[in-house]
Amino acid sequence: MEQVTEKKDTYTPKEISATRRIIGDRGEYFLRSVEGETMANISACYQCERCTNACPVSIYMNINPHQVIRYVQLGWREELLRSTTIWVCLSCEMCTTYCPNDVDVAKTVNHLRNMAFRSTVPPAEKVLAVFHETFVKELQRFGRVNEFWLVGSLNSHPDVLKEKIKTGALKEELFLGLELLKKGKLKLIPHRSKEMKKIRDICLKETRGTI
Ligand code: SF4
Ligand code: SF4
Repeated sequence: MEQVTEKKDTYTPKEISATRRIIGDRGEYFLRSVEGETMANISACYQCERCTNACPVSIYMNINPHQVIRYVQLGWREELLRSTTIWVCLSCEMCTTYCPNDVDVAKTVNHLRNMAFRSTVPPAEKVLAVFHETFVKELQRFGRVNEFWLVGSLNSHPDVLKEKIKTGALKEELFLGLELLKKGKLKLIPHRSKEMKKIRDICLKETRGTI
């Protein structure tokens, strides 16, 4: 994951109208559908940028959180689904907490990530997309996430394994795993949650069965 140094913050009205997606009423359809599905109050955003200032990982995003909200308002679906932002986001909800207008930015980003899963758009951050998918699958399997099984499933993906060998992350992980094991912090046998059915239903609802 690389730091993004150059980002375009503002667009001229000419640039906006040249790239605006004409879906229904000037992108209005996309805005209304995302708002309807998330209840995220996106229309209320006045671009104060507090969400972006609060975001701990915005330097790794090619579209900042306040821009995500603006793009939804404009109906720029493709740009959003192709962004690194939807994969880099940690779902920490700092953006939502700091918004003075109650815009649920975190929920909007999560919604766009799930939308990207259902689309044919290739993810801008392949490894992070695999991580997201694996995480949800593990959650559905046991109703909670076991770190040992999560990392095992993740590393069984050829693209991830290749990347980790290339960057040396696999070696670091092995050492860290052994340390955790010695200290009894890594559980090899996963425990199933008593609320598995409820958790599976939530996962299915959020991803609409695509994962
Ligand atoms: S903090 Fe809220 S109002 Fe301000 S730019 Fe972000 S979403 Fe918009
Ligand atoms: S939820 Fe995502 S976009 Fe919002 S502050 Fe956290 S990392 Fe940034």
